[in-house]
Amino acid sequence: MNKTERMTELVNLLNEYAYQYYTLDNPTVADAEYDRLYDELVALESELGYSLDNSPTKRVGDAVLKGFKSVRHLGRLYSLDKCQTKDALSAWLDKLVKACGYMPKCSLEYKFDGLTINLLYRDGKLERASTRGNGVEGEEVTEQVKTIKCVPLSIDYKGVVEVQGEGIMRLSALAEYNAKEGVTPLKNARNAVAGAIRNLDPKVTASRRLEVICYNVNYIEEDFASGSDMIEFLKKNKFKVSDKFDLFDDKQRLIDSLDGIQQKRDSLDFLIDGAVIKVDDTSIREDMGYTEKFPKWAVAFKFPAQEATTTLLDVIWQVSRTGKLNPLAVLEPVDLAGVTVSRATLSNISEIRRKDIKIGSRVFIRRSNDVIPEILGIAEHTPQSVDVTKPTTCPACGAPVIEEGVFLKCSNAKNCAPAIVSAMSHFASRDAMDIDGLSDKTFETLYNEGKLNHFVDIYNLKAEDFEGIEGFGDKKISNILNAIEKSKDTTLDRFIYALGIANIGKKAAKQLADEFNTLDAVMRATYFELKSIDDFGDIMTNCLIEYWANEKHIQEVESLLANGVKIAQKQVVEGALSGKKVVLTGSLPTLKRSQAKQLIEQNGGEVAESISKSVNLVIAGEDAGSKLSKAQKLGIEIIDEDRLMSIVNGEK
Ligand code: NAD
Repeated sequence: MNKTERMTELVNLLNEYAYQYYTLDNPTVADAEYDRLYDELVALESELGYSLDNSPTKRVGDAVLKGFKSVRHLGRLYSLDKCQTKDALSAWLDKLVKACGYMPKCSLEYKFDGLTINLLYRDGKLERASTRGNGVEGEEVTEQVKTIKCVPLSIDYKGVVEVQGEGIMRLSALAEYNAKEGVTPLKNARNAVAGAIRNLDPKVTASRRLEVICYNVNYIEEDFASGSDMIEFLKKNKFKVSDKFDLFDDKQRLIDSLDGIQQKRDSLDFLIDGAVIKVDDTSIREDMGYTEKFPKWAVAFKFPAQEATTTLLDVIWQVSRTGKLNPLAVLEPVDLAGVTVSRATLSNISEIRRKDIKIGSRVFIRRSNDVIPEILGIAEHTPQSVDVTKPTTCPACGAPVIEEGVFLKCSNAKNCAPAIVSAMSHFASRDAMDIDGLSDKTFETLYNEGKLNHFVDIYNLKAEDFEGIEGFGDKKISNILNAIEKSKDTTLDRFIYALGIANIGKKAAKQLADEFNTLDAVMRATYFELKSIDDFGDIMTNCLIEYWANEKHIQEVESLLANGVKIAQKQVVEGALSGKKVVLTGSLPTLKRSQAKQLIEQNGGEVAESISKSVNLVIAGEDAGSKLSKAQKLGIEIIDEDRLMSIVNGEK
């Protein structure tokens, strides 16, 4: 294929992808793949010195969807020029400095990954909302957008104004939506927004709890001196704006600050796919102008993609420490943000069915931070696609599989090798008994050689049990035996967590330790006592009751204690708060949380994380939420920081 043919092929392919993405809201390739092909087209066009009339490099977005009224924007909407490396951004800024003769003030904002919304107000009333469409004309989505609570229906400004913002769905709202029974899971937040707004039924929009974050005044009959003034105008008129809007007049400081945004990316409750840099001064913006597609005074710095598409080759079932069979996706290796990914998580068989995931299909995967990637959904089925079969026997031990709600379990978990080995690893892990130097692999070897049959036996291990294991010399063995010895001094929460009781994680173990103080009391806790702890529902409560009802578990605990495990008792301090269990909630006017905790403990009180009947006192500050209302319901004494200070100072 020659270069001209390749150019035509790319234009056709990209237009088809753009149609799926913009018009049908149903992308079939990940953005990273689209961007790669797009960049190839840009390079070819510049090499050949021309572009085809229907090239995506010449236009914004795509056609208006049938069923929607097409409306003309008062001010044209543009896409953004982009760069992917700091060097490219530096070159862009150098050009800017050259054009202005100095480094003009630039704003740095989040690049929200959602759907552009254009809001038209006249006489202070929301007259119309539309999508970006091709930048000149968009689709009218007024009724849909009116269901979005943060979009003001009326504003103080009485002239004609068009405000541009990004429709987004918070990741927490998406997770809640996808967890609901009977809904088809949404692929990702960007898709969820597009599908919700470009939907003829406004009830669908309302059900997705969207927000619109505004960042631009797109048309107004008066002048703003700067982008910052626009943001002030938006705030004054009660639009929701981003809390990220920083101004820089130093090139290097601007570039350096991108790292901070990138680091924060995974902790944000919404998707961003980069940062936007805009010249702040509107007179410079006017001088620089626009290309057919984007303003010359702004650029998007795109972060490495977190999503990719690849083929699902197989689904294997792994036995967890509680005997649950967890599906693991085997993928055709794909590069994602510089890491080759070949495995992804899937929650359970019902999720596989709900997402219509089939072996042989192309799937969307997402990776954030260093966590193992997840499969978001299907990009495309292929003629080879086949259903994932539900195992009827345990892949490790061959015992029949039982179903517990949406989960599959090995019916022989107590004797199933991978379950036993992962229970050992869990017992020794850092947040549990914290035994350094014992890897999963070592546990597997010790188990296979019959040296270790249960985590309880870890405290009976001797030097000779490690002899002959590859990589285990005298020094290493002695370090491990020391680590085992050291781990015997532990705390109640670590000990409970280490037992690996189903559904009792780190937080729950800490709550149990706070609530009951001694192992004995935890073991004797009744259903109602357990249920009264914050976030302890039926499942967690029943798991604990069933666990302690099993004589074998009592014997295991006794054996651990007999082997020298010592659970530290809490130090008793006498003071004004002796015998009182105290919960802190909300932010206190002067004391930091850690200071308040220290003060309470120094005065004999005990700080608990959650509200339950055994709590005696709640110190509430500003923005106290559900803990405060729960305390009120239970009739627990509630005081403020002033009262706390007078109590510890001995005043009545
Ligand atoms: P873009 O989304 O990369 O950038 C422009 C848009 O950014 C603006 O229209 C605006 O909506 C948004 N934006 C977010 N925060 C902003 C802020 N603070 N200030 C200004 N604007 C802000 O460009 P585009 O033209 O909308 O879309 C192109 C991208 O879409 C491609 O890079 C590709 O990743 C994706 N795409 C994917 C497919 C696919 O099949 N997967 C197909 C077509 C396009």
